[in-house]
Amino acid sequence: MDRWLINVLIETSYLKEGDWTYDTAKEAVAIKIKNGYITDILPMDQWQEDQTAQIIDGKHHLLLPGLVEKHCHLDKSKLGTNWRPVTPAASLVERFESEIPQLDALPVSIEERAQALIDAERPHGTVFFRSHIDIEPMTELRYFDAISHLLKQQSFGSEIVLFPQHGLLRSQAIPLIEAAIATGKAALIGGVDPYTLDKDYKTALNTTFTLAKENHLGIDIHLHDRQEAGRATIKEMIRLTKKYNMLGQVSISHAFGLNDFEGAERKSVFQDLADLDIHVISSIPLSPNTIPPLKELQSYGVNVHIGCDNVYDSWSSLGDGSLQEKLVRYLEIFGVKSQEHLTASLGLVTDGHVPLDQNGLQKWPNVGDEANFICTTATSSAEFVARKGTVTRSFYRGETIWNEPE
Ligand SMILES: [Zn+2]
Repeated sequence: MDRWLINVLIETSYLKEGDWTYDTAKEAVAIKIKNGYITDILPMDQWQEDQTAQIIDGKHHLLLPGLVEKHCHLDKSKLGTNWRPVTPAASLVERFESEIPQLDALPVSIEERAQALIDAERPHGTVFFRSHIDIEPMTELRYFDAISHLLKQQSFGSEIVLFPQHGLLRSQAIPLIEAAIATGKAALIGGVDPYTLDKDYKTALNTTFTLAKENHLGIDIHLHDRQEAGRATIKEMIRLTKKYNMLGQVSISHAFGLNDFEGAERKSVFQDLADLDIHVISSIPLSPNTIPPLKELQSYGVNVHIGCDNVYDSWSSLGDGSLQEKLVRYLEIFGVKSQEHLTASLGLVTDGHVPLDQNGLQKWPNVGDEANFICTTATSSAEFVARKGTVTRSFYRGETIWNEPE
């Protein structure tokens, strides 16, 4: 059945007093949805009652693009269990080796813990989840099977990254990754610090790129390594993205090592990331000298995204599943203040979709777009990001996937 979402506001231009932009102009529209896509956008005064369609009243709330969670771990969540802060661990290896027995001993199932994380994120407007799922010999495909089955039953969007948390080569995870790929349920292959964890980072990365290319999958590598380890890994990823012609299909999560490039090399690496459309995904860490230079990267044209990453799991006692909170952290760290820049920053949590560009030209929504959006009581994109506006309803491919409780 066709569907009309009526009485929603969309932003049409900036409002200015001299040079200072103080708000946006809005227009009330009706959005027609068919087979998950926007098929018509009409000014409200031109819309006519349609007996054959389902009508949803948007109550004059503002329509914004749906939020996209670019980095979470649904299999690691401990939400739904009793409070326990993270256990001590002397190293990354000790951390992930103690993680599996800890998770398996919990009295709440992996599906329920994952669902609790999903439920924590949705009130903040998340309509799509990219989740890494551990693939290593301790669990084989147990976590992958559980989470992929859970996601199949949901109406929001999702994609799975096969994540060799214990090192692709170090834990001899390749046959398991291949078995997971063969199910057809994965969209990307991940990895973690191949330089320090696998030692032979060139072989680890080359294997990842070969598997991804052969199976038409993307790549998303967690990279915490700094200095020579971080720089060498990033440069090798750039080389392989070129070699395998994987423009737009490769992401680097965390990417702390981007801080460690200087001078001409910094310029050429950042330009390569932009030219090859290698995406950078950050969970906005607050530790000094850690977060990559996200604003500088965007000035080169690099696609930057935000993800929550660890939310109350074996790695972090913190986190509430709010992409809105992570975005506010970004605004604070990078001093984002103006209406135009606040509007642009929405793109960090919407896979780049923003209602208006810097000059006030309307960019979204458009006929032909997937019907992924949220309704909010915020009065503009800028207010939504700055003040963590209330989400009243969210849609994925035209289906309501979350409603504000009455
Ligand atoms: Zn992570």
